[in-house]
Amino acid sequence: MRRLRRVKIIATLGPASVEKSVVAGLSTAGADVFRINMSHTDHAGLAAYVRMIREIEAETGRAIGILADLQGPKLRIGAFTEGAVHLRKGDMFVLDADPTPGDVSRVQLPHPEILSALKEKDTILIDDGKVRLHVVETSGGVMARAVVDIGGRISNRKGVSLPDTEIPITSMTPKDRADLDAALAEGVDWVAISFVQRPEDVLEVKRVAGKRAAIMAKIEKPQAIARLDEVIEVADALMVARGDLGVEVPLEKVPGLQKRITRAARRLGKPVVVATQMLESMILAPLPTRAEVSDVATAVYEGADAVMLSAESAAGQYPIEAVATMSRIAEEVETDAVYRSIINAQRAAAPDPTVADAIAVAARDVAETLHSVAICAWTSSGATALRIARERPRPPILALTPSRDTARRLALVWGVHALETQDARDIEDMADRACVNSAREGFASPGDRVIIVAGMPFGSPGATNMVRIAIVDHD
Ligand code: PGA
Ligand code: MN
Repeated sequence: MRRLRRVKIIATLGPASVEKSVVAGLSTAGADVFRINMSHTDHAGLAAYVRMIREIEAETGRAIGILADLQGPKLRIGAFTEGAVHLRKGDMFVLDADPTPGDVSRVQLPHPEILSALKEKDTILIDDGKVRLHVVETSGGVMARAVVDIGGRISNRKGVSLPDTEIPITSMTPKDRADLDAALAEGVDWVAISFVQRPEDVLEVKRVAGKRAAIMAKIEKPQAIARLDEVIEVADALMVARGDLGVEVPLEKVPGLQKRITRAARRLGKPVVVATQMLESMILAPLPTRAEVSDVATAVYEGADAVMLSAESAAGQYPIEAVATMSRIAEEVETDAVYRSIINAQRAAAPDPTVADAIAVAARDVAETLHSVAICAWTSSGATALRIARERPRPPILALTPSRDTARRLALVWGVHALETQDARDIEDMADRACVNSAREGFASPGDRVIIVAGMPFGSPGATNMVRIAIVDHD
């Protein structure tokens, strides 16, 4: 069941993938991690998905990651008497606290703290940026008067984006808190936070989650980009959430930001996911466009840890084909002659190199010099596997871990094939079982050389200090 690519695939589940046979099909076609979008899933639905995925995991014997994605503070306008209005360029329009249904002159913005935070000249985007206004006058948190720059139709409870305004609330709403508790109770492996603005937003969720789940910060606000390194520092992984990011910043800035975010994450050794509209046309068609193929390929060339499908697998007509297509594109890119040189060119030294970083660099060096078929990492927390993945070595990384949670979390990470197994007893056992498992999992044949990375004494996290070379036996 080994994959032939290093980059991982995240498939979002939804109405198109509620059947267990479809989820199993997505897994076989190449999905390594499943994303459960809490914007559209209730707690019963979450429990049903988790149960199904764990059954499939037991049937296939391969660790699968589960990512619960919290909705976050998606701001919405109130309702209109007529259900919708048409705003024209140059019109004045007021957002206020009054719950009375709106009309062509005003509508409620049911978030008083946002009304207070709006300043003159701030941009207001409604319905994914289809309608654009800018604030010309505010009045003490009760209303903001704005001029329409781009007109259009807006209807009841459409989403509002405020790219210029630092929102004075955390990225966790009461719904997010309840969803986070439910996701932790279900034992998900990763939790994604939407609309992160500050490192504190990540820390707040980490405090609740403790060791129960790893935390992914979705980068979709300019405020998070302004403090990118600080956010990466505290997060366990990042997502380039291009959907909302493309609303909050001009669309043409998204590709450059994608490169900046993936590089920064790689430099700091944190997994990074590229998400949204990757194979969008496959929602309705069995084949993607050339531009989409190129987009997936770009993320793979950039060395992203994972590429993600949203509506393609959650609500599209061709969920399994979308995963299979993504997988084929990734395999092709990774065997392309220029792939290695691009990946290597973006490799950066660790900012504060530790002994464990030095060991990871050495393991890559030895493995590549000797044309080893695998780097086997004995790892309890997964940190050693992450450090080796950070080096983006040529051979695959076989992570051997006594922790099922670690194996599942590592499903997200570039190049890592994680296996749950008992801790090694001694150095001989460590080398023997690395060889046996490399062969059994399809990475090595008799006579092949594998590189082994471990820490002595065994089972003490953070003690990675050893690289060893072993040859797979002929018995
Ligand atoms: P969403 O996040 O699908 O939850 O909005 C991803 C994105 O914004 O790209
Ligand atoms: Mn989003």
